[in-house]
Amino acid sequence: MRGEKLLWEASTKVADEFYTPMPKGYKKGLTKYLVITGSVMSGVGKGMITSSLCKLFQNRGMNVEPLKLEAYLNVDAGTLNPYRHGEVFVLQDGTETDMDLGAYERFLDKNLTRENFVTSGFVYKTIIEKERRGEYLGRDVQFIPHVTGEIKSLVRALASNKKPDIIVIEIGGTVGDYENMFAIEAMRELMYEEGKENVCFLNVTYIIDPPTLGEQKSKAAQLGIRGLLSLGIQPDLIICRSHKPLSNGIAEKISINSNVPIDRVIGLEDIKRIYELPLLLRRRGTDRKILESLGIEKKFNPKDKELAEWTLKNTPPKDAPITRIAIVGKYVNVKDAYISILKALEHCEGPLKTKISVSFIDAVALENGKIKSSALNEYAGVIVPGGFGKRGIEGKIMAAKYCLENQKPYLGLCLGFQVAAIAFARSTCGLKDANSTEFEPNCRHPVITLLPDQQSVESFGASMRLGSQEVELIKGTFAYKIHGKSCLIKRRFRHRYEFNPEYIEKFAEKGLVFSGKDPKKPLMQLLELPKHPFFMASQYHPEFTSRPLKPDPLFLHFVKKAMVEKC
Ligand code: GLN
Repeated sequence: MRGEKLLWEASTKVADEFYTPMPKGYKKGLTKYLVITGSVMSGVGKGMITSSLCKLFQNRGMNVEPLKLEAYLNVDAGTLNPYRHGEVFVLQDGTETDMDLGAYERFLDKNLTRENFVTSGFVYKTIIEKERRGEYLGRDVQFIPHVTGEIKSLVRALASNKKPDIIVIEIGGTVGDYENMFAIEAMRELMYEEGKENVCFLNVTYIIDPPTLGEQKSKAAQLGIRGLLSLGIQPDLIICRSHKPLSNGIAEKISINSNVPIDRVIGLEDIKRIYELPLLLRRRGTDRKILESLGIEKKFNPKDKELAEWTLKNTPPKDAPITRIAIVGKYVNVKDAYISILKALEHCEGPLKTKISVSFIDAVALENGKIKSSALNEYAGVIVPGGFGKRGIEGKIMAAKYCLENQKPYLGLCLGFQVAAIAFARSTCGLKDANSTEFEPNCRHPVITLLPDQQSVESFGASMRLGSQEVELIKGTFAYKIHGKSCLIKRRFRHRYEFNPEYIEKFAEKGLVFSGKDPKKPLMQLLELPKHPFFMASQYHPEFTSRPLKPDPLFLHFVKKAMVEKC
């Protein structure tokens, strides 16, 4: 949890209408800011545009830090239900964030930290704690200047701690939401204090194209942008997302209504592959125009060849064979709940020259017999992803058991590791009532359980093992071989329960190998079954650190084996 300690030391005067605590060592003008807002509606790719722009700046040799200002009141994303908000992404320092941070990390190929993610809840918590400590010196604490002041301070803390050339700030939600009003106001103040030459505003709007009319309409976008103008923010650039290419007439209407010159109104139609987005934005001059408005376009030169290569290498050939993979989980209707897994699979497409088609299989339907396990035979490989709670668990165990008994490539991730262990105990070790104490607290064979030193931790969430930890790979195993023969790797975790060491021997007798362990504690973190074509599972989440052109070896070899299956 954050907020216990302040990230900087504030200096404030009593009874001052200005409240702008400056982090130690902060120097105005050293860092430029790009602020990205959305209008009309969410879900049109603001996060991907942010990630792509970060990539373009990085391609020019700039040191880039993304920052997500998230509107909700949760202090972090740890308690959010993936059904509502998509996957909870975990940073190496254990911060639980929303999935946009995953997109930034993947495109930048860089590990971010808690300073790159700020929720309104975190801001308010910081303020209330400060108020209780008497740090406002008797002053009534107000939205303006105090809430906006804290937001600006968090932004500047990132600048002074990491010294980037540019911070790319994505404001969650759309213009007009109550929730992000103060974040937008804070950005207006930031521009007022830093100077126009240091802060660029980009609005991502949406051009509707009602099928009944068959033509693009700009009114919703005009009103959305007008909302931003009424908050005192003149956008420097507008990206118009639309289904089909933006028509000239619409671009002109947007330009005249928003005071944004026509060459800074950029159309961006739907594209097939997200890896094409940076190159497309570059071709339309987007990063150049942003840097022009910040006066630094001559300082950082683009490396177009490198960018084109990155795009090409991430694209499988047009006639590449299709590899069909099943994900057996609970959130089958919400693709975003497993987004990092989908991306980790995508990272294999270019290098392995295959297109991966993913189907979601409802674990609950498997459990209650609406879908038969044999339906999995249609897929070349099966993934059981992470998850919490009992619902659908027997369906997931059935999926692992099916793969185990039918030589089907299986990859288990976190809960999928635990499920693999339970299936192996039941199917191969003859421990019919093996289970995890998470689902069956008094089961006879708790192969997955809380270890003794965890059991005293009471408050919900406190015992969660979070963030990056070392995994020791055991020499001579397949895992060791595919990770480039390095003994120690670092991977991210987010779980409470562990494999019960009492069963290690029994599993080993039956041929299961724990190929990755915690270097210091008796924690099993990676399992494999040498007799099987591919039966591997990790207690960690390899999907969080898989990157374009650097697919995680577990995913890469799982897909490689699945390709042989040719389903
Ligand atoms: N529910 C399991 C645990 O807490 C697995 C968690 C996960 O898959 N992220 O250990």
